[in-house]
Amino acid sequence: MKNLGLHWKILIGMVAGIAFGVAANQFGWGDLVKDWIKPFGTIFINSLKLIAIPLIVASLIKGITDLKDISKLSAMGGRTIAIYIGTTVLAIVIGLGIVNLVGPGRGLDEATRDNLLNDFAADAGKRIMAAEQQREAGPLQALVDLVPENIVGAATSNGNMLQVIFFVICFGIGLILIDPKKAQPVKDFFDGVNEVVLKLIDLIMIAAPYGVFALLAALVVESPSADLFYALIKYSLCVLAGLGLMIGVVYPVLVKVFTGMGPGTFFNGISPAQLLAFSTSSSAATLPVTMERVEEHLGVDEEVTSFVLPIGATINMDGTSLYQAVAAVFIAQAYGMDLDLMTQLGIITTALAASIGSAAVPGAGMVMLVIVLGQAGIPEAGLALIFAVDRPLDMCRTVANVTGDATVAMLVGKSVGKLNEPHERKLDDHYPAK
Ligand code: ASP
Repeated sequence: MKNLGLHWKILIGMVAGIAFGVAANQFGWGDLVKDWIKPFGTIFINSLKLIAIPLIVASLIKGITDLKDISKLSAMGGRTIAIYIGTTVLAIVIGLGIVNLVGPGRGLDEATRDNLLNDFAADAGKRIMAAEQQREAGPLQALVDLVPENIVGAATSNGNMLQVIFFVICFGIGLILIDPKKAQPVKDFFDGVNEVVLKLIDLIMIAAPYGVFALLAALVVESPSADLFYALIKYSLCVLAGLGLMIGVVYPVLVKVFTGMGPGTFFNGISPAQLLAFSTSSSAATLPVTMERVEEHLGVDEEVTSFVLPIGATINMDGTSLYQAVAAVFIAQAYGMDLDLMTQLGIITTALAASIGSAAVPGAGMVMLVIVLGQAGIPEAGLALIFAVDRPLDMCRTVANVTGDATVAMLVGKSVGKLNEPHERKLDDHYPAK
């Protein structure tokens, strides 16, 4: 058991958690799970979120100052954004292709549709209201939101990750531009903080199998009945097929073609982050582990991971945008609407923007889906149709989001000559190992 790979231990924790949740439902232990097991899952997620901001700050400052040259930063930034947009558009096109081909909404009978609409109308209403606030913002609001008025304020909420990244990039650029003698102690300080945070991730990951056990047991106990799931099975399968294609084919092929790394090594390296993404439904909570795995197990230099991955966690959501495309067309089909080519092209643009705007937390993709629906002229109340299966699909699309970030980090790393041999650091190693 001791020598078992981390991903196996996490997988065992997940399976045991689901099994325990099912048993708890059977024997009426629901309250026991909610009171005595779920809190440990929450503590686990909190401890990951807790180190997200220190990790981004320390590793990004280290990454930028190691670059020593601002022109390298802009070259990397341009490539990162371009590849992120490319993979997201591809994901949306795959989603649209599948949903048009299969037409899952066309088979939904009217009685089921009305039942779902009634049962989940209130939940859907909440998401629609949340989306309303986003919609009221002007076209340049995203740019305004990038610049915080107070860095401490921005760092207090994990929801403002882009603002923190913006400040840290400015800080790093300032550090490159000042007298190196004065910059050195600041750089050394953040190098030290970075090592400490990486060590903390190792320690937190020891608890990962137990954390995911608690998270999944609670999830099973709190989830709605499986009957609703069956009504939406065709729609769910369309989303899963699209995500499967991205995770199982598109990403490994991109990695193989552009970096030469085989799928075995790639998945071995990234799988603990994928399993965590599945268990937490949050790419932001998974970020510390994604960064550690991509750097140590896939060999991407920290200069690249520290920049590409935090940005990716917030703006690159291939799984979310694929799901939004499938869901939008599914809802339209269920209402008997036929979407023409122009409307579907419009879905590509809004789903791209919406996935960039989605926060990296559970359920965020669904709020932004409201905007996609509105733009395409699809009734927003239709959100209620897909509510019942949103959580399991959220778990799966978060895996695609995280795998997409890791893939792009590898491609950018390769393109700027920063892809090395993997160098796993053990729990009791002393740093710096390089
Ligand atoms: N849960 C997703 C993530 O954190 C976002 C979403 O699709 O709701 O990546």
